[in-house]
Amino acid sequence: MTFDSMWSAIEPIGLEASSGGYRRYAWTRHDAALREWFAGEAAARGLDLVTDRAGNQWAWWGDPDAAVAAGRPGVVIGSHLDSVPDGGAFDGPLGVVSALAVVDALKAKGFAPSRPVAVVNFVDEEGARFGIACAGSRLITGKLEADKARGLRDADGVTMAEAMAAAGHRVEHVGPDAETLSRIGTFVELHVEQGRALIDLDRPVAVASVIRPHGRWRIDLDGEANHAGTTRLEDRRDPMLDLARTVLAARAAATELGCVATVGKVRVEPNGVNAIPSRVTAWVDARGPEETGVRAVVEAVARQSGSPAVEESWTPETVFDESLAQRLSAVLDDAPMLATGAGHDAGVLAAAGLSTAMLFVRNPTGISHSPAEFAEREDCLRGVEALTTVTEVLAR
Ligand SMILES: [Zn+2]
Repeated sequence: MTFDSMWSAIEPIGLEASSGGYRRYAWTRHDAALREWFAGEAAARGLDLVTDRAGNQWAWWGDPDAAVAAGRPGVVIGSHLDSVPDGGAFDGPLGVVSALAVVDALKAKGFAPSRPVAVVNFVDEEGARFGIACAGSRLITGKLEADKARGLRDADGVTMAEAMAAAGHRVEHVGPDAETLSRIGTFVELHVEQGRALIDLDRPVAVASVIRPHGRWRIDLDGEANHAGTTRLEDRRDPMLDLARTVLAARAAATELGCVATVGKVRVEPNGVNAIPSRVTAWVDARGPEETGVRAVVEAVARQSGSPAVEESWTPETVFDESLAQRLSAVLDDAPMLATGAGHDAGVLAAAGLSTAMLFVRNPTGISHSPAEFAEREDCLRGVEALTTVTEVLAR
């Protein structure tokens, strides 16, 4: 089983011909196919497959509980297999396939780990179906309440509980999972780079330093619905003009304060081509190096839009285990340290107090969450090598 054969095995699953992107959503038939593939890979390597209370899959090489009893819990590597709507091939699967390839590489060289090693497949990382990112890791750490999760609905009105049950997961077991967490001594998630840095640094692999603070806000812009042909310009209350101001304000404030801000989703009522809208709702996603800067961006946007920005989610800065990051950078030939603006299961586990780290594999264009997401095969293999080195150092 090589990296390439694993990659080809999952390549067709959930691929949407019309867009060339992936639609691999949690607890669907595509997800089931990927989970079955993962279980098969675990079995082929003689790994013990454990599914936790949230549905995350853990493939253990060695006895995790004996290691907990001995005070030396395991080394976990892996990522997720689900995707955003029309996502790329690499975000998630690169980390899972690489982790399985690491087990092969370590076994091939006769390495006998003194701590057990696991490959994890986190469920529902992207939140594409039920709207909450990192649901699998948030559930086991208690960051997402079980009852709330069970009641979340997808676009067709199906609840997460119904979707889990249909996929054969025991819904009544969903909840915080201290036993699973206790088995994790260290978690290292390898991930395709999102954003462009490594190409300019001429390096194939980086180590993550922090996940930048980020949040989502909703702004409701009210106006008055009226006829597009008969209403004089001076008589109009057109919230679409406020939306235009809001979008430009987001760009200007982000530029001035060294952040990024995006209006990627709007809802227009009544959304008719010949009607002045009665209401426009805009969602602002803002991220930056410091919380104060991000919040200043959102305040400026709200001020100029004339309406308050209602916070829908907020994630403070996540700092990965600093000494671990430095140690990994050192064993990887002084790999550069990169901050990221994207959330990950590794970030959720870090926020829950576990020792976690991330490796990023060069993405030449930086494009992610798109069919254009890419990494050279050569760089993927160098990622496997880097993760092999790291796992060997940590499990020695
Ligand atoms: Zn991801």
